Amino acid sequence: MASQRPGFPVRLTPTASAATRGRLPAVPVKPLVPATPSMASDAVRARMVQRLAAQGIADSRVLRAMGTVERHLFVDSALVNQAYEDTSLPIGLGQTISKPNVVARMIELLLGAPALAGKPGDRLGRVLEIGTGCGYQAAVLSHVATEVYSIERLRGLHERARVNLRSFRLATVHLMLGDGMVGYPKGAPYAGIIAAAGGEAVPEAWVTQLAVGGRIVAPTQSASGGQALVVIDKTARGIERRILEAVHFVPLKSGIA
Ligand code: SAH
Repeated sequence: MASQRPGFPVRLTPTASAATRGRLPAVPVKPLVPATPSMASDAVRARMVQRLAAQGIADSRVLRAMGTVERHLFVDSALVNQAYEDTSLPIGLGQTISKPNVVARMIELLLGAPALAGKPGDRLGRVLEIGTGCGYQAAVLSHVATEVYSIERLRGLHERARVNLRSFRLATVHLMLGDGMVGYPKGAPYAGIIAAAGGEAVPEAWVTQLAVGGRIVAPTQSASGGQALVVIDKTARGIERRILEAVHFVPLKSGIA
């Protein structure tokens, strides 16, 4: 009887594998779990990009930029699992990061600036972003524009964006603390101006600081009391204004806090 007791460590008889050996295809087994968290986020981000394309984002420059920037590194650790969902997320001080679809849509509109017409592969020139927030959109913009000036009125967020962006080493992104209602004359003229906060109207300063051939994309109060996206083009013929779909952005406020 004692001889039938398994020894230690237990040896399993290799009968099953011996029986099938030679018949199984010799392919390496794919791990079910990605090897590193960054590989996991790459896969989730790729799915987000597929979703954006299915939702109608067609500009390959935008899809590539959205696929490159690691959105999960910009949100609070408690929200990391939601970073690639189509949802806006709190970034502190009562502010929010827009959902990926809105970020992509607005940047796609920005790249439709008259100066870039017929140049589907080109980068936009200097861009001004009003409302740095956590710095995510500034990072995305750095992949489609030659230079990004991003201004934030809340010191806490300005500093957070600085920390968030440090590891990305984006030499072309310039963060400023200030009131973006007056634009940022030092960087003007801009090929594009994009606002992440909505006011009653597009400030005249932004139009003044826009280059000929440039475009402004901004949420603005609509006639019904809600908000809508406004696109303003500056051409040799003058200013052209279009009102597009309804949106929900945090308010554009004046002064620094
Ligand atoms: N683009 C940001 C989203 C930020 S939310 C991101 O990717 O995270 C909008 C931001 O606009 C808020 O941080 C708010 O403080 C800021 N804001 C509102 N009015 C402003 C103004 N006049 N000047 C600069 N920033 C402003």
